[in-house]
Amino acid sequence: MFGAIEAGGTKFVCAVGDEWGNIIDRVKIPTTVPEETMAEVMAFFKKYELEAIGIGSFGPVDVNPESPTYGMITSTPKLAWRNFLFVQAMKDAFSVPIGFNTDVNAAALGEAVHGAAKGLDSCLYITVGTGIGAGAVVQGQLLQGLSHPEMGHILVRRHPNDHYQGKCPYHGDCLEGLAAGPAIEERWGEKGINLVGREEVWELEGYYIAQALMQYILILSPKRIILGGGVMKQKQVFSSVYKYLPELLHDYVSLPELPEYIVSPGLGDDAGITGSLLLAQQAFKEEIKR
Ligand code: ADP
Ligand code: ZN
Repeated sequence: MFGAIEAGGTKFVCAVGDEWGNIIDRVKIPTTVPEETMAEVMAFFKKYELEAIGIGSFGPVDVNPESPTYGMITSTPKLAWRNFLFVQAMKDAFSVPIGFNTDVNAAALGEAVHGAAKGLDSCLYITVGTGIGAGAVVQGQLLQGLSHPEMGHILVRRHPNDHYQGKCPYHGDCLEGLAAGPAIEERWGEKGINLVGREEVWELEGYYIAQALMQYILILSPKRIILGGGVMKQKQVFSSVYKYLPELLHDYVSLPELPEYIVSPGLGDDAGITGSLLLAQQAFKEEIKR
């Protein structure tokens, strides 16, 4: 049996499951301060005999195994969690292999193995929620370089009628600054959920996301793109993306039919936790090899 943690900015989901991705038990824990949240995490896992634990965490995180701060949450705006040594804390409590990656990389892995990109050796998973982030599976592996990619902070061309300044504390009007949930709320003065009938909101959202997808497609050439997160529950955004993306790409690359190529998560809200279970499995297999 494996343990999995999907560590988010508002809640942690902890689960135990088997090697086929079946979840046997799960719990939701509010993200407060590490001492409190982690005590509940430990109490949940102590009930089980685990072979390994996988973590998909909000970030940025240090995912470089050679680094002295491997497994740490780094420059997060959630101050209580800054410099929290996540992997070390788990290792101290459980002497089992610990797999660690970003929440979006875990979700990408979950979708590639059990979800909307099952059977494909490449996919891109993007979440549009409190922030925008993406994880990529490339040739069967999670994409990683110096650190993990931060695809939510790319630059996009502004819509000529959009004068909203942007909300990213680092870049102002990067993609996340213009198109994540909090930007929608500040620009239009209402939470996304209360803007359902306002077509122009979701049209503009698709305008920005289509630009981002164009760049991801040109750079990574993913075999499928999965769009998740709270904002993507507004299905109108998909229609807007399907409209703008061909206008941007001009048939320069040939793509599958867009509604089959750019899709919702096959695992619904379980992409991240399922992927974290796979991270546990990977950590277990690596340990055996050693
Ligand atoms: P998180 O990113 O924190 O894990 P979500 O993916 O649910 O969580 O994203 C939360 C953001 O998405 C908020 O800004 C919220 O206003 C927005 N959001 C959540 N649900 C919806 C919805 N059904 N329609 C539009 N916006 C939504
Ligand atoms: Zn930014």
